[in-house]
Amino acid sequence: MLTLIHLYPREMNIYGDTGNIRVLARRLAWRGIEACVEPVTVGGPMPTAADIVLGGGGQDAAQGEIGADFVARASTLRAMADDGVVFLAICGSYQLLGHEFVTQEGVRIPGVGVLDVTTHGSPTRLIGNNHVDTADAGRLVGYENHSGLTTLGSGVRPLGRTESGRGNNGSDRTEGAVRDNVFGTYLHGPVLAKSPRFADELLRRALARHGHSQELEPLDDSLAEQAAAVAVGRPR
Ligand code: GLN
Repeated sequence: MLTLIHLYPREMNIYGDTGNIRVLARRLAWRGIEACVEPVTVGGPMPTAADIVLGGGGQDAAQGEIGADFVARASTLRAMADDGVVFLAICGSYQLLGHEFVTQEGVRIPGVGVLDVTTHGSPTRLIGNNHVDTADAGRLVGYENHSGLTTLGSGVRPLGRTESGRGNNGSDRTEGAVRDNVFGTYLHGPVLAKSPRFADELLRRALARHGHSQELEPLDDSLAEQAAAVAVGRPR
């Protein structure tokens, strides 16, 4: 059994990001492995023994609502990341996994410092379908919509490269950030529904921590691959 922590399902779930949890749970079930999903709410308990931590996107206001609660959990989250727990953080959660997000209005929302990234709001939103070529899991396909521009520090590497001119900041063609088993990305959609290799890479890493090193049983991903191909053909 794998335990999946779902951070702030009420505040941080735009563009279908909760679907990432459903994709992981379903891909485990198809292989006869149980998933236990633990939602974490503002002020609520958080299990410390988890395998995968997932957080979705949220508008600036929602990030403000969860900000203080999230920062109060910073040392626990950093210890989990250091221990090899797998993280997938999308957009607003990705920004807050970093050092800080400073909104366009100059409001500073501190992050938890799990990823060495910093984000500043800008007047231009980066919007559209995007695909990203990665070393970890091939092509990822999703949708992005954010005003925050993210700069990567030396403690992370980019998740991948985008040709669209959007991604982390619209200028250096990087998308997302990775350190150890922690992944941040701007791709909504939910990204895992159109990026099955990435879903399995997260599961493979989580299972490897339990000593399961055998290959995951292959699944029929033809529908997901068709959906990805259609999205790649529609840049906006
Ligand atoms: N509020 C953040 C921004 O616009 C994150 C938005 C999101 O999660 N889609 O940059």
